[in-house]
Amino acid sequence: MIGKDEIESLIERYDTNRISIGTLGSHSALNIFKGAKEEGFRTVCVCTRDREIVYRRFPVVDEFIFVDRFSEILDEKVQERLRELNTILVPHGSFNAYISMEDMLGRLYVPMFGNRRLLSWEISRDKQREWLLKAGLNLPRVYSSPDEIDGLAIAKLPGARGGMGYFLADSPKSFYEKAEKMVRNGYLSREDIKNIQLQEYVLGVTAYFQYFRSIIKNEVELLGMDRRYESAVDALGRIPARDQIHIDLNPTYTVVGNIPITLRESILPEVLRMGDRVAKIAEEIAPPGIIGPFCLEAIITDTGRIYAFEISARIVAGSNVGIGTSPYAYLKYGAGMYMGRRIALEVKLGIEKGMLGKILY
Ligand code: AMP
Repeated sequence: MIGKDEIESLIERYDTNRISIGTLGSHSALNIFKGAKEEGFRTVCVCTRDREIVYRRFPVVDEFIFVDRFSEILDEKVQERLRELNTILVPHGSFNAYISMEDMLGRLYVPMFGNRRLLSWEISRDKQREWLLKAGLNLPRVYSSPDEIDGLAIAKLPGARGGMGYFLADSPKSFYEKAEKMVRNGYLSREDIKNIQLQEYVLGVTAYFQYFRSIIKNEVELLGMDRRYESAVDALGRIPARDQIHIDLNPTYTVVGNIPITLRESILPEVLRMGDRVAKIAEEIAPPGIIGPFCLEAIITDTGRIYAFEISARIVAGSNVGIGTSPYAYLKYGAGMYMGRRIALEVKLGIEKGMLGKILY
């Protein structure tokens, strides 16, 4: 694993008057680059040719490094160029998808804004659960075997497959029948079935809370909120129940976009406290804890009870709804603040106060 001292010696060689903010051209890159430019940084995009159009059409990139695959960010030549440009990398969801945890921890010799050590907590459902329970959050019950199912349950596969292959069951019998059918139809393998996590299905609406934990200011900020727009589950309500039964639907949760939310003010106290507690526990389990953005994914029931079902310890694509306009960021900072810009602001403060070593890992 790359040591903190190794990252620090990289930072020492950087020209802090010429820092670039870099990331992979995907996920929330527009958000990150725009924010970096607004705070006066240069930007560098590690990009594939098929996605180039995005970062040309929206002029937020100063320097491109083209690759055939995102995993080539690990190539020595690419890393060398990033360091030459004094790049601070901002990780987002595509890093988890295209680069293995071992490579992130052991082969990426470029300073990153964020705590690499929290990654191992984020990518395991069991460790996430332990973290959130320690923080005192309500979590959906987990069934340890399909035979325990006594209400509506959601069957989830390990890893982020965008909700693909998830299914619902309300009894052991319906679980085994559906699982068998999913295997027969080629949606799941027998191995997948063994690795399924079965959660209580919480009836309520989803809400994703976007926080920023600042080591420099020593506080947790709430900067935005969204819900996902998921195909096909968000389309089901448009089909009458009678027809749904006939076509034997299975909800899938492929994210195609995000929708901004503002919450009832009476629910905000709990949302703010949840962010504080999760950040506090992160300091204990992986010092120095969360650096920068994190997101709690939650379901809110009709009684106002909030169940957290996942955490991301990095910028989430849902924060793209706030580019330029997030109401919660406005309440704290006034116009024009959003997650990508908040990251750049923290880097700027880090440079000014000589604290870069505290926020780069
Ligand atoms: P995930 O892969 O964990 O992000 O879940 C994908 C989607 O499944 C979420 O956006 C929710 O719409 C839904 N979901 C996940 N867990 C639950 C749960 N315990 N109860 C109800 N819906 C859930």
